[in-house]
Amino acid sequence: MKRREFLITTTLGAGATVVLQGRGHQEERLIPLLVSEERLVPGVEYWTASVCRQCPAGCGIVVKTMFGEATTTVDDQTVRVKRRQAKKIEGNPDHPLNRGRLCARGQAGLQVLYNPDRLRGPLKRTGPRGSDQYVEITWEEAIRLLVERLQQLRQRRQAHALVFLTGRLPRHMRLLVERFMRAYGSPNHITYELFDDTVERRANKLTMGREALATYDLARARYVLSFGAPFLETWRSPVYYSLGFGSLRQGRPGVRGKLVHAEPRFSLTAASADEWLPINPGTEGALAMGLAGVIIEEKLFDRAFIERHTRGFQAFRQLVREEYSPEPVSEITGIPAETIVRLAREFARHRPSLALGGGAAAAQTNGLFNLIAIQALNALMGNLGRPGGLSFTPDPPFQEFPPVPETPQTRESLRQPRLDRVGETASIATFIERWRSGQPYAVDTLFLYEANPLFALPSALGVREALQNVPFIVSFSSFKDESTAWADLILPDHTYLESWWDEVPEPGAGRPAVGLAQPVVKPLYDTRSTPDVLLQAARSVGEDMRAALPWERFEDLLKDAYRGLHRAVGGGGDFDRFWEEVLKNGGWWASDDQRPSPVGYVEPQTFDFSPALSHRRQPAFAGDERTYPFHLYIYPSIAFFDGRGANQPWLQEMPDPMTTVAWGSWVEMHPRTAERLGVSEGDRVWIESPHGRIQAPVVLFPGARPDTINVPVGQGHRAYGRYARNRGANPVHLLAPLVEPASGGLAWAATRVKVTKSPERGRLVTVGYTRVHTEAERR
Ligand code: SF4
Repeated sequence: MKRREFLITTTLGAGATVVLQGRGHQEERLIPLLVSEERLVPGVEYWTASVCRQCPAGCGIVVKTMFGEATTTVDDQTVRVKRRQAKKIEGNPDHPLNRGRLCARGQAGLQVLYNPDRLRGPLKRTGPRGSDQYVEITWEEAIRLLVERLQQLRQRRQAHALVFLTGRLPRHMRLLVERFMRAYGSPNHITYELFDDTVERRANKLTMGREALATYDLARARYVLSFGAPFLETWRSPVYYSLGFGSLRQGRPGVRGKLVHAEPRFSLTAASADEWLPINPGTEGALAMGLAGVIIEEKLFDRAFIERHTRGFQAFRQLVREEYSPEPVSEITGIPAETIVRLAREFARHRPSLALGGGAAAAQTNGLFNLIAIQALNALMGNLGRPGGLSFTPDPPFQEFPPVPETPQTRESLRQPRLDRVGETASIATFIERWRSGQPYAVDTLFLYEANPLFALPSALGVREALQNVPFIVSFSSFKDESTAWADLILPDHTYLESWWDEVPEPGAGRPAVGLAQPVVKPLYDTRSTPDVLLQAARSVGEDMRAALPWERFEDLLKDAYRGLHRAVGGGGDFDRFWEEVLKNGGWWASDDQRPSPVGYVEPQTFDFSPALSHRRQPAFAGDERTYPFHLYIYPSIAFFDGRGANQPWLQEMPDPMTTVAWGSWVEMHPRTAERLGVSEGDRVWIESPHGRIQAPVVLFPGARPDTINVPVGQGHRAYGRYARNRGANPVHLLAPLVEPASGGLAWAATRVKVTKSPERGRLVTVGYTRVHTEAERR
């Protein structure tokens, strides 16, 4: 038998094992194995279901593992051990959100696990802050230091001065952190994401009473108007929306749904649309109001829905009549009046028609008004809870835990004001300002978990000064990112493929679902699950914390939470069997036939038009127009999202789909603007705002507005490992510290900049073609 035949035969056995476990047809599994001999590895493969954590969407994954040999250190000796190794990540075909598909970031997840720059054990700072001088310590010492700090703070009656700054945490991890902080006596669990969803949630709360993200049923719509939301790339749940978009286009015989996309940049989503509207930044709400005006004037709205399910319609009608007729809206938005009239008619006549807004439309000082006006279009079409419309996905019925018991001391410290909140509105900008000023009280101890504020917040907020003032910083990061490099104590978490955790996708797929992740491989290094560290610390800090967090391990908490789910949907069977089933499947989700309506469990909803009046604002921009003549349009990179993926070489070498640039930053500039500034492709330019400046090479991009400079976010790390460090520039540091005032959301699309040519020549890595621009593009 030849080597090739031997390998194929051996691997067929492994493939067959998997097929018998119920994943697809044998023929479908075998064909790819014949493709590349070098990739054939004999042995038995195992597929374990888990969840992707490369962005907050929560897609289901299956991870292929095989046994192999690895080198490890035991008692200071290097030894070879046999262990299960992760080889490949694919989409979980059964998960309702992504149905077997993954984006490139999801595929690259192995490079988080096997990243050579992972922190390998706990570290204690020995040199000045930021000097990168650390010494390795044991976990016993690390947890002792943590517990001592927490106990001292409590003894000083300063429990409220502990701040836990996190990204948007997955479902029960969030619950654990919230319980931990409440039991400890601090009101300051503060969350932020650069590309957050605060404004969307607030708009939905004001208009539909749900502080949640809506699921848009693209698959059953016939016409989609999208405002600023690059849903095929990075916005909310790009895999789910890409599948929906595929069905919109080709999922129904004889029906090809239309997409119209309004965004200042020609993104991948814009390139996939039938029509791109390069709208003036911050005027998306005005466009929506103009469309609403035409729809109302021509009586094209759903009268029955408006009469039965809405409030404030008459005043709204009056407003659009008086102020949003097509001509003035054309002046504001830069979209021709006849286009506005045509789009309004198309939108109203090709039902189900759907409007969705987010991204740059939300990230303005008037972002809340923009999103309210966009949702008003859905109300005019009667879209709430209908096929081809929008719905809200309910939470699965988890076990509720008893409230955290309070002691006189925790009651007193919990009465202190939250540092990020003024009245109803919480904002990261408020938090940083108070943190910096020490008012109304100083931050004593800062925990950082899945948060890198030195990279992912505008430096104009004063994050660096604030960090300097904190006496004690603990980071739970798996990597030494910019903020972790300032920590006094680093307690590295396992990576997501080594951990227990779960995620309820939001926005979901229109039916209750949760993804459950178990360790796919044993931890590679001496790291520890952060939830387990918190549970261990809670047990040592005091009896009251032990009572509030009685679980030995996070896995136990998860099991208890799923007992509620088992009672509700387990059909009276044995819990252990239910748990095994959920683990095997990678989660639980309601089946299609459990849905009372085609788009989900939709309770009766009403829509209130009046917030469109009360929150109406013009967009405001930082930077005087004469000094700073260009809008700065930053956008999440399709490879790195907000920068968290920049330490993965597969993502670094992935060419950007619109420019083909890899391994660096770039500035997208309209050819006419470049000509005016005297710059050519590859020239380096300085981009300067009132708050900072960066340098990057120019890409001539006809999809940029002539008055706007586009820069992707993700590069420009000064730490975060060998693949990310000192590569490109971080445009977040140009941003003004502006927020949308009613929601507190960061207005990251509201800064103006100027551009000057740098004498240096740039280094632009592009993929094998010469950019030729036609005369039309130059215009
Ligand atoms: S959208 Fe991509 S990165 Fe985000 S969870 Fe899904 S596969 Fe992972």
